[in-house]
Amino acid sequence: MLMYANEELQALYQEIVQRNPAEPEFHQAVAEVLGSLGPVLSKHPEFRDDRAIERLCEPERQIIFRVPWQDDAGRVQINRGFRVQNNSALGPYKGGLRFHPSVTLSVIKFLGFEQTFKNALTGMPLGGAKGGSDFDPKGRSDGEMMRFCQSFMTELYRHLGEYTDVPAGDIGVGQREIGYLFGQYKRMTNRYESGVLTGKGLDWGGALVRREATGYGLVYFVQQMLEIRKEHLEGRTCVVSGSGNVAIYTIEKVQQLGGRVVACSDSGGVVHDPDGIDLALVKQIKEVERGRIEQYVVRRKRGRFLPGASIWEIPCDVALPCATQNELNGKDALALVKNGCRIVAEGANMPTTPDAVRVFHEHGVAFAPGKAANAGGVATSALEMQQNASRDAWTFEFTDRRLGDIMRGIHQRCYETAEEYGTPGNYVNGANIAGFIKVARAMLALGVI
Ligand code: NDP
Repeated sequence: MLMYANEELQALYQEIVQRNPAEPEFHQAVAEVLGSLGPVLSKHPEFRDDRAIERLCEPERQIIFRVPWQDDAGRVQINRGFRVQNNSALGPYKGGLRFHPSVTLSVIKFLGFEQTFKNALTGMPLGGAKGGSDFDPKGRSDGEMMRFCQSFMTELYRHLGEYTDVPAGDIGVGQREIGYLFGQYKRMTNRYESGVLTGKGLDWGGALVRREATGYGLVYFVQQMLEIRKEHLEGRTCVVSGSGNVAIYTIEKVQQLGGRVVACSDSGGVVHDPDGIDLALVKQIKEVERGRIEQYVVRRKRGRFLPGASIWEIPCDVALPCATQNELNGKDALALVKNGCRIVAEGANMPTTPDAVRVFHEHGVAFAPGKAANAGGVATSALEMQQNASRDAWTFEFTDRRLGDIMRGIHQRCYETAEEYGTPGNYVNGANIAGFIKVARAMLALGVI
């Protein structure tokens, strides 16, 4: 059980744990935010009176549904679908869909909760939600993926709409899945409502830069962290965990800016290539062949594959966790510190455990939480929605410039808020407080709803 200096927040945390039993990821995400809010309550008693924190910690709506489908052998399979619509004070619910066997209500609730703060930090009119299923896409044929997505959307469609709730991709949900989901939504509603899903293909309403946005945005945020320290990315050694959408475009942008990425991974193990990761090869294996990262070393002899190893043992200046929650623990953090790592920024959602965050803060490592550093994806989704609404399509350069501006704005908001509330350089406090104040103010303005 966490101990807060503030008794009121401690009691509140205990109440939330009791009301939401067996949801460890949700408890962890709430604990981290509450840990930043003590000074806010002192300065803004109105948030206490209107119970803004309690309201934010109780999702507006939680939907759980059965997803029946048939595999290629004709067997009936049953999965569970989720959509947690956490908060819509700032705009329609917005947040991705995750298909992974580790998905539970707790995982989706933590993600929806985080998403609310993240979306607020972008400065765009977006509420927060998250959804998904415990379905495992690994090894499934295109036909199986399509039937699963169609069944999933057959229930979910009634809860969506461009002014209601707008999902996107996340782990296990890329452009192929968004296509099948959008097709079924269109069929069920008889409406070509482009703005109901983001991450679409370029031929049918998608936006340039959306695919790259989370990874590119993360690196733009890191550039700002370095700039404050009068440093830059050129010549820095980086380690990026994962090899999915976020990891691939993080590696691409680091390399474009002159950094050297020496390792990436998937759930099977780590590829270490001290000469620098061959990104074209990673894209071929992961995006084209949908294969495993261990195939990298078969084609590039200088790389080494380390099955089941911790990527954080590899020396680097900048560490960028881009795979999944709780993938970097206290022991990993100590290894990074010992090897001279100076900057850690989260591409994934909550990949760093609380004890690892503590290690970074104690050792002066600049640490950026995902709700700030990986917000480029959802921000560019909002740009996709803008283009859909105006029946327009912007150029890559224009959209990328806007993404850069948005990430600079988020960095500044977090940095200045941390300073204002007496913890300079603490991006966790900066992000939590700035996100919370924005949502809480809107909630108060809208009344008790
Ligand atoms: P992808 O499915 O494209 O890639 C996920 C990567 O992480 C894969 O390499 C996968 O390996 C690895 N991974 C997933 N689960 C585990 C696990 N339990 N243990 C070890 N490795 C794992 O997903 P994304 O790149 O889209 O998402 C990555 C992270 O970024 C997630 O936390 C997501 O919530 C977050 N994020 C994504 C955004 C987006 O725009 N896509 C926006 C903001 C945040 P394997 O193939 O072996 O499973």
